[in-house]
Amino acid sequence: MRVTAVLVAAGRGTRAGDGPPKQFRAVAGRPAIVHAVAALTPLVDDIVLVIHPDDEALVAALPELAGLPRIHGGATRRESVARGLAAVAGDAIVLVHDAARPFLPAEVAARLVQAVEAGAAGAVPVLPVADSLVRAGVTVDRAGLMRVQTPQAFRADILRAAHAGWREAEEPTDDAAMVRALGHAVVEVAGDERLAKLTTAADFALAEARLGAALIGRTGMGFDVHRFGPGDHVWLCGVRIAHDRGLVGHSDADVGLHALVDALLGGLGDGDIGSHFPPSDPRWKGAASHLFVTHAVDLVAARGGIIDHVDLTIICEAPKVGPHRAAMRSRVAELLRVREGRVSIKASTTEKLGFTGRGEGMAAQAVATLRLPGDNL
Ligand code: MG
Repeated sequence: MRVTAVLVAAGRGTRAGDGPPKQFRAVAGRPAIVHAVAALTPLVDDIVLVIHPDDEALVAALPELAGLPRIHGGATRRESVARGLAAVAGDAIVLVHDAARPFLPAEVAARLVQAVEAGAAGAVPVLPVADSLVRAGVTVDRAGLMRVQTPQAFRADILRAAHAGWREAEEPTDDAAMVRALGHAVVEVAGDERLAKLTTAADFALAEARLGAALIGRTGMGFDVHRFGPGDHVWLCGVRIAHDRGLVGHSDADVGLHALVDALLGGLGDGDIGSHFPPSDPRWKGAASHLFVTHAVDLVAARGGIIDHVDLTIICEAPKVGPHRAAMRSRVAELLRVREGRVSIKASTTEKLGFTGRGEGMAAQAVATLRLPGDNL
């Protein structure tokens, strides 16, 4: 069954200190909400983002969130979930998740989805309570008590019914409580400490220490050459540039993007563009090279990685790169789903020496700097 995540990011939480709501605060190099989306992307079919209307500009500034459907949340978390749920079509397993729990281990998501696929109305991740508990000076027996995390997984029809029928004056503590109130059992699966909610500045500092140390820097290098042939334009870094010749290649012969893809794959240690998109495969004949970049970016995301920076050098006598540099930078940033500040585009001639100097073809070099979780290496 289709799995859709409703990612609730509409809270105003400012207990983490001054500045934007906590889901937009950076941890290990990017905002918590970006980590949350990156963690969910390889695990679900769709993501519906529920944000506060005041945060539109914050979301628009994050290219990693571009293209996700955005719904404005309500006055309570329950209303926010209901509005997100209204954007989920048909039969699905819905994962209701909080952007303030950005580090979702794949195995927890798998346990939740399996439980619902096996027939449960809903499933929640839980962890035992390790500390002693006390209420108003009286020790509470912690036997049988569990901490409940998100994401919480439900059959869409049952969760819709739970929201539609909610009449209690009191706000529910979570969606599982609403589904139980309908008389359905919600099963418990093993949660994970990495799913801890980021609330205070101390939570962010702890996550930073754990994640920052766990991410390992990697550098990948790419190089590509294409020969000039008949034509009236070239594709360079995803931008069409009028020229008195074209570039010859199996795909659109975009040397810049090809070098970039090899740099990303190099950083991952995962082969090269030819092994992922064999020239012998007719599917890639005439293909637009942005498809190759998107594939490589998805591979980085699936590994939980971050693209810190890319640096490209285009080597040719003509066409002139300078007038197109800004457009190329913008397009590459868009394809990598990063800010333009993380993309550098440079150009060089070879002083009329060699094949580029003689105008026989163009070359490009790229370097990509990535960070990858150590446990995925
Ligand atoms: Mg090539």
